[in-house]
This record gives sequence, C-alpha cells and structure tokens, in this order.
Amino acid sequence: MSLKIGVIGTGAIGQDHTRRINQVLSGGKVVALSDVSRPNVEACAAQYAPDARIFDDPIAMINDPEIDAVLVCSWGQTHEEYVLAAIAAGKPCFCEKPLATTAAGAERIVKAEVASGRRLVQVGFMRRYDPGYLALKNAVRDVTGAPLMVHAAHRNQRVGANYTTPMAIHDTLIHEIDVLRWLLDDDYVSAQVFFPRKSPRAHEKLRDPQIVVLETAKGVVIDVEVFVNCHYGYDIQCEIVGEDGIAKLPEPMSVQTRSNATLSNPILTDWKDRFIDSYDYELADFLKAAAQGTAAGPTSWDGYVAAVTADACVAAQEAEGVPVRISLPQRPALYS
Ligand code: NAP
Repeated sequence: MSLKIGVIGTGAIGQDHTRRINQVLSGGKVVALSDVSRPNVEACAAQYAPDARIFDDPIAMINDPEIDAVLVCSWGQTHEEYVLAAIAAGKPCFCEKPLATTAAGAERIVKAEVASGRRLVQVGFMRRYDPGYLALKNAVRDVTGAPLMVHAAHRNQRVGANYTTPMAIHDTLIHEIDVLRWLLDDDYVSAQVFFPRKSPRAHEKLRDPQIVVLETAKGVVIDVEVFVNCHYGYDIQCEIVGEDGIAKLPEPMSVQTRSNATLSNPILTDWKDRFIDSYDYELADFLKAAAQGTAAGPTSWDGYVAAVTADACVAAQEAEGVPVRISLPQRPALYS
C-alpha cells in the first residue's frame, strides 16, 4: 500500500522531501500540498508532484480523509499548530525541526501525543540517521569506554544579514543539542556560553563565533564551537573522549588528490550535501512506521528537550560565561 501524504510548506526542504518521497523512496506518495506561497507550491507541484491537490488551508488538508500522513516543512512558528492538528486527526506526522519555537509549545505537543496514547510524531533531527554518527555511536558503545568529554564544531561558510546571535542556538546548535544527547544517551544539566573576539565577517546583530559548554547528568563536559562565518566551508566535527580511547566523526567521503607538491581533500560548502543520505533514511523510517499508523525516530519528547536546552543556551548567551541550569520533568512512559 502506498501511503497518501500531504506536505505543508513547499520551500527548500519541503520541495526536497517531496522529491524524495515521489522520486527516490518507496511506500508513499505526496498527493497534496499546502503553502502560503503560491509560487512555491506551484513550483513544487510542477517539478515533483504534478497530480497533487493544492490546499489553501493546511488544516483542511490534514483533516481530509484522503490524507494518511503529514509532513510539516513550513516556517518554524507554524509547526505547533499543524502538529497538534495531525495528532487530533490521529495521523502520523513528520515535523521538520524545530518541533515548536518555544518549550511551552513543544510541551503542549508532548501532552497531546501522550493523551492520544500512541506515537504519531517524528521530528526531523536527521543526524541520527547519518552513517558517520551511527558509526560514532557504535564506537562509543564498543571502543571508547564511558565518555568523559566531547569536542564539537558546527561551522558554516556564511549566513545572511537576518541571522542573529540567538539563531546560532535555535537554527544551528539545535542539531548538536539533539545528536550529542542521543550519542551519549544522557541529558543536559547546564549550559554556558563564551564569546571569543568577533570575526570581522559577522554582521552587526551577530556575535560570531561562540563556544557553548554543556554539562550532562553523567558529568560529561561538551564544548561546541559555533562559527557561522568561517568562510572556508561547511564543516561538522565531533570527537568523543572516553575512559579507554577517542572516537572521531568520519569526514565525508571525498577524492584525495596529490598535485603540485600538495596533498589535498575538498571540503563541502552546502549542508544539503553533507547530510543528503540521512534525509533519505529518516523519511524511509517515517514511511515505514506511518504505514503501521505510528511514528519512529526522534520523538516529540526529543523535540521538547531540545527546545528546553536551546532556551537555556540563549539565556546563557545573555549571561555570558555564567552557567544556566537545565531541568526537565519526568519523561512520559510513551517515550521510554
Ligand atoms: P523556506 O525555504 O523559507 O520554506 C518555508 C515555506 O513555508 C515557504 O514556502 C513559506 O512561504 C511557507 N510557509 C510560511 N508560513 C506558512 C504557513 N503558515 N503555512 C504553510 N506554509 C507556510 O524554509 P526551509 O529552509 O524549507 O525550512 C522550513 C523548515 O524546515 C524550517 O523549520 C527549518 O528549520 C527546517 N529545516 C530543517 C533542515 C534540517 O537540516 N533538518 C534543513 C532546512 C530547513 P513564504 O516563502 O511565503 O514565507
């Protein structure tokens, strides 16, 4: 059976996921699209889903009896409303990060899903599906012994003029917040932020780079460099230091060249290329679970924890060097 899917938000990632479902993966078909932007929705339909019905009202699309499952790929502020509507309709829902733009919004989703009695939501934390991170998780299990420290970096070539200091947390660090917690199987208890000398490439409303220090319940100390105007490429680094050894995230595959007395490897510049496989794997996982009327992968609880941690990191940016405590309520049984 092919699952009939409705996609809300047909910008960059919504179009790419529609292409993925209709042209790469099996088990689902995008049969409906909705977006406030008419040019975007028409471009998406023309390129990737010519038979799709176009809905002006995304809530009507979610509730349409012809729709089995929903992808929420619109602007972050709108996610909560659409995910809550999908839960109310009892339909599996893949929601791009963030699950909600506030911890209170994410908590409302957790409560609604728990009340529904079954998992319906998968959050788009695709790094958990990246073969490099999966290999790193295996190395933490088999090689490094108990983790003591993590050194990580998230570097982008450049960001637009509308990118502000808190966005380094909500839009960029959010991926490390989720994937490191998953790698370590641990929760955060505090966040601290330090600002080195500002890069001359960072515009007025952005302090860049910054170093975020997270401490976990098991006592692991994590430092993440966020540097979004690094100029040289899109570069994701992660090294786990354990009791018995060290494990490092593999570099993306590339052709090494020897020429002109130089040994070199290219560095990627586009995030879409760095995690291209993991987007395929996360959606394949969604389609498989949704066919059974449920959801797999990163949960609403993971989305909620990420939102609480991100809020603490933004408070820590304002506190400049002073640690901010992170506390979480009891994890509901649905997510254990
Ligand atoms: P985008 O290119 O700006 O696309 C967002 C689309 O949603 C636009 O077409 C926008 O229309 C539309 N939209 C805005 N409000 C809406 C509403 N109320 N109902 C329906 N559609 C609405 O952004 P994007 O890069 O695709 O990002 C979309 C989401 O995916 C964001 O939450 C982002 O954080 C997430 N994302 C995740 C990853 C990842 O690595 N997991 C990567 C990229 C993006 P207008 O253009 O008219 O505003």
